[in-house]
Amino acid sequence: MRISEVYSENKLPVSFEIFPPKGEMDISALREMLDGITGTDPAYVSVTCSAGGTGNSRNTAALAGVIQNEYHIPSVAHITCINSTPFDVDSYVEEIKNKGISNVLALRGDRVPGKTTSSFNYASDLISYLKRTTDFCIGAGCYPEGHVECESFDEDIEHLREKQDAGADFLISQLFFDNQAFFRFIDKIRDRGITIPIDAGIMPIMGKSQITRMIFLCGASMPASVVRMLNKYEDDTQSLIKAGMEFAAKQALEIAESGMANGIHFYCMNKPEVASYEMKAIRDAGY
Ligand code: FAD
Repeated sequence: MRISEVYSENKLPVSFEIFPPKGEMDISALREMLDGITGTDPAYVSVTCSAGGTGNSRNTAALAGVIQNEYHIPSVAHITCINSTPFDVDSYVEEIKNKGISNVLALRGDRVPGKTTSSFNYASDLISYLKRTTDFCIGAGCYPEGHVECESFDEDIEHLREKQDAGADFLISQLFFDNQAFFRFIDKIRDRGITIPIDAGIMPIMGKSQITRMIFLCGASMPASVVRMLNKYEDDTQSLIKAGMEFAAKQALEIAESGMANGIHFYCMNKPEVASYEMKAIRDAGY
């Protein structure tokens, strides 16, 4: 199934992001995680890809193939520009096409020391190329509080518009904790004529160091309630995880209630218990 079709189903599409292991991948070691996450019946599962050939891009295709063909859940294979030539992209495309995957998330990729963009400088270049050479359903990333490298929020939105113009079919947002920032972003991009579906990307907090690192990388703002939660459970990881899952569910339900996102995408960090908690919270609330 193409991701653009999941938005016409009558349930709110809820999806998960997972990451493949580095090095040799042993699918049997991932079964428990895969059974648990796909068992929640998500609209799709997306599989990350390390930029610049740093270790797991082959595993991305293999893992996305297993989700698609053995679990019969639509999968989305991430694909990045960093260090990719058209030849690299063509071979990766062939590999995922052979696995019956019809969805990709086209990204520039996180910068890796010593690796540069080569043929494709920006995600929009890769999207145009994929649009010309494949019939994939193409997703792209978006940034409710602006991308960390961009000089201005308005400029970032112009570049987002370029991704739609290049052929992106849907968007998944970067993580954020402040729903008001997400709502302002949606108003702004819809005004700018960006009409494609958007999944709100939500990351349940799994630990103080994990979230501090993510915030450093992506520049998401941290509301006082999150800072209080991190301080309160600083020395109690289990309680922090529980509070983090509750916060994420509350965030997702407020977004569902607002009707401003087309779907919810959880960065579930390969944790089936997180996926089932979040899915249950959303379905129990009637979405
Ligand atoms: P772009 O859209 O190319 O934007 C990058 C920067 O360049 C922005 O500041 C933008 O405003 C600016 N820009 C864009 N076009 C132009 C232009 N024409 N002229 C000047 N400036 C321009 N990274 C990975 O390595 N692997 C993954 O699997 C992965 N998965 C992700 C999933 C999601 C949902 C998201 C939101 C991000 C993911 N990332 C992943 C991180 C992503 O690669 C980084 O955020 C990266 O820094 C930007 O990627 P992009 O595709 O948004 O880039």
